[in-house]
Amino acid sequence: MSEQGTQVMKQNPLQYVSDQLKELREKGVAPKLRVLEGEQKAVCTFDGREVINLASNNYLGLTTHKALRKAAVEATRKNGAGAGAVRTIAGTMQLHMQLEEQIAKFKNVEACVVFQSGFTANAGTVSAVLGKEDLIISDELNHASIIDGARLSRATIKVFKHKDIKDCERILLEHASFPGKKLIITDGVFSMDGDIAPLPELCTLAEKYNCIMMVDDAHSSGVLGRGGRGTIDHLDCHGRVHIQVGTLSKAIGVMGGYVCGSRDLIDFLYLRARPFLFSTSHTPASAAACMAAFTLLDSPEGEKLVKRLWNNTKIFKRELRKRGFQFKVSETPIVPIHVGDAAKAFEFSKKLFEAGVFAPAVGYPTVAEGKARLRAIVSAGHKKEQLVKAADILAEVAKPLGIIPA
Ligand code: PMP
Repeated sequence: MSEQGTQVMKQNPLQYVSDQLKELREKGVAPKLRVLEGEQKAVCTFDGREVINLASNNYLGLTTHKALRKAAVEATRKNGAGAGAVRTIAGTMQLHMQLEEQIAKFKNVEACVVFQSGFTANAGTVSAVLGKEDLIISDELNHASIIDGARLSRATIKVFKHKDIKDCERILLEHASFPGKKLIITDGVFSMDGDIAPLPELCTLAEKYNCIMMVDDAHSSGVLGRGGRGTIDHLDCHGRVHIQVGTLSKAIGVMGGYVCGSRDLIDFLYLRARPFLFSTSHTPASAAACMAAFTLLDSPEGEKLVKRLWNNTKIFKRELRKRGFQFKVSETPIVPIHVGDAAKAFEFSKKLFEAGVFAPAVGYPTVAEGKARLRAIVSAGHKKEQLVKAADILAEVAKPLGIIPA
């Protein structure tokens, strides 16, 4: 190799990545990945330490449920380990079609399409349904997958203040003569604060201004509504939401996402949603385990699990309030403990972990700068004494950091 060639090789075009990483580490906002040993449960072992787990989205404890395990193992035996192709080529198995039918029935809609994740369901759907001549009106705290889908669509994006109906209507009025299609989009439950969207009011606006209405029910499927049917059921908005997204990765306990709506919407997404067209479909094990989860949700055992989740949520919030914590906006099992400074939030989470509780800190870019917090999530799998103990530990660690009064 020539001397000049060697010199060019020596320059690292990714040096800036190393520099930025160093800066993040120095600021104390670059936590390491915690590694789970064994199963995702209410009490489990991360990095060799047994902790009370307030970090997962495993709302109903289904990740380890015997019916899901059995379905996954049987489907693998019968159908193999992988689907082998994207859905639109050769990767649509009977299991995928059955799962879609089951979800559509569960959600009381005409049809459903399953995606590889909730992220791709949102991003793939928004970018397929809207184009550059259109308008997207989006809550400021919507999930990243909605934001990315909106950007991919190249539509005009207008953001309304969080849950602020007046602000949403202001945008609609300002765009009264906008010639393209309009979409109002909101999370059903907001993942960082655990509050619920004002869905009936947003639906009324969508009807008044002739907009498409879309809801991301990632944190409400399996949590809110009858048997966990989501915010649309919880807030009695059946028939008023054109596009319902959910995940299979949280309460359902497996992985994937789905979109529910009219038969035509779903058939259109089969043809135009890019993650559906260009990324391989679910493994037989995942599809079968998801089906087992929906069967369970639709049974008395499922109802019991949802009830237990809400009972545990009540217990945990009560215990935290007794110890001086405040979390005004949370209406669900997501319990945010506001800290503000990101480095302090990460320190809080680290000390908690050392004391036996795993609850992650979230900072920028997951939440805005200066709004870092600890996010604890309750599950149906927790026992009362575990939640009380977790509240004790949270208080012990929070006091010296000035997060609650000493
Ligand atoms: N929407 C919301 C509101 C979420 O919180 C998440 C997960 N963080 C997703 C969508 C994406 O879901 P999945 O993990 O299935 O990709």
